[in-house]
Amino acid sequence: MAISPDLSATVGNTPLLRLRRISALTGCEVLGKAEFLNPGGSIKDRTALGLICDAERKGLLRPGGTIVEGTAGNTGIGMALIGASRGYRTVIFMPETQSREKIDTLRMAGADVRLVPAVPFKDPRHYVHVARAYSDSLNEQTPGSAWFGNQFDNTANRDWHEATTAVEIWDQTLGQVDGFVCAAGTGGTLAGVGRALKERNPGAKIALSDPAGSALAHYINRGELLAEGSSISEGIGSSRITANFEGAPIDLAWSVPDQESVPLLHELLREEGWCVGGSSGVNLAGAIRLARELGPGHTIVTVLSDAGTRYQAKLFNPRFLREKGIPVPDWLDQAFPS
Ligand code: PMP
Repeated sequence: MAISPDLSATVGNTPLLRLRRISALTGCEVLGKAEFLNPGGSIKDRTALGLICDAERKGLLRPGGTIVEGTAGNTGIGMALIGASRGYRTVIFMPETQSREKIDTLRMAGADVRLVPAVPFKDPRHYVHVARAYSDSLNEQTPGSAWFGNQFDNTANRDWHEATTAVEIWDQTLGQVDGFVCAAGTGGTLAGVGRALKERNPGAKIALSDPAGSALAHYINRGELLAEGSSISEGIGSSRITANFEGAPIDLAWSVPDQESVPLLHELLREEGWCVGGSSGVNLAGAIRLARELGPGHTIVTVLSDAGTRYQAKLFNPRFLREKGIPVPDWLDQAFPS
């Protein structure tokens, strides 16, 4: 049957793209998993589906129930769309600093969006704590009516990547993968893919490409959670070790500045036609670093997590980029004259 019965059936099985420019630059075969082609536009459709299927199986999410999640946006979009398709209400808590495009997409998808201040995890007003408390309050009123997805610490997230994303990468490369690199938000992608690849090929190198402002690279290299600087990328980086990230088999880790990552996504759009978001830029920078580490002739896989259109007003806005000290290519100045 070539017919997809519903939205969930179209999540995953994304193409693996040859990244021509970076491959030529490094002498490696550098491949990008085109996660922006998922129905909700990001890799987080997989997380949403994995968590929802797990909750349904355990009887935690019941027909007509309410999904509650704390998210930078993309997981919420996946949950709202799958919720629409399966008859669930969705309530999303997210920091007010996230892109207008993601907030609008969530509203279009029918989510009840609650914006909260962008505060550190230890603050009780943090979006994850507020989401959990809201879910608890619904369940106090009507037991069993709400389910909190808990994407950061619910390891059904990592397990879904281990069973789907990783297996697709292995099959698409015919098992010829020497390295995998990506950034971590929940850590589900990196830990899930990393575990499955190591199991199949213990020599494969797993690397973390971490945005400035995140504590994870420093933690892997020095054993201490320390963050410096900041990044305009969204959905990646962390100040804590989540249950999904815990124990990820990471061989190498780098902190990548925006000045290095954003020009790579500008070049990818202009020279190869792929329009990707900020976390994909950090992943591209990581792929170059891993290729340099392994040397020419190796196959390296990374992730193109979502589309650049989701961040047009930031990543493709000359004035915004200049304010952040990020180089602006001539063509972008000409496309959006100030
Ligand atoms: N890229 C984007 C655009 C995301 O939204 C996220 C998740 N918030 C990630 C990367 C990180 O993926 P993971 O949560 O699996 O670490």
